[in-house]
Amino acid sequence: MTEPSPVLVSACLRGVPCRYDGRDRRSGPLDELLAGRRVVAFCPEQAGGLPTPRRPAELRGGDGHGVLEGTARVVEDTGDDVTAAFVAGAERALAAARRAGCAEADLMPRFPSCGAGGVHDGTFHRDAHGGARA
Ligand code: SF4
Repeated sequence: MTEPSPVLVSACLRGVPCRYDGRDRRSGPLDELLAGRRVVAFCPEQAGGLPTPRRPAELRGGDGHGVLEGTARVVEDTGDDVTAAFVAGAERALAAARRAGCAEADLMPRFPSCGAGGVHDGTFHRDAHGGARA
């Protein structure tokens, strides 16, 4: 029987306190789901060089594809543009996943870096990480 491939997982979901507010979002159900699997925990925002804690950030002008194509930006609630750090973090996440041979990923929903299933719209109208941002 072949061993399942490793899974790339948002580091905050594995208990790493890497969110913008210095907290984690450990998930018991995800821990159960991944029991016995090899996990690569990764935080793209930290890997991109952003500090923890940091200002919350959201996408403006499009989605993650737009950011990579240069038509959208990632902006902190102060107005500072952190697009370059987010792109660097995404590239490093991809490189880490390829190095480890990950064939799947479990990522934090709605956050600008991990952002599986959609992200916030850049208006900062959602509570940061109370179910909203990373
Ligand atoms: S959701 Fe945010 S804090 Fe969590 S791993 Fe992704 S970038 Fe890091």
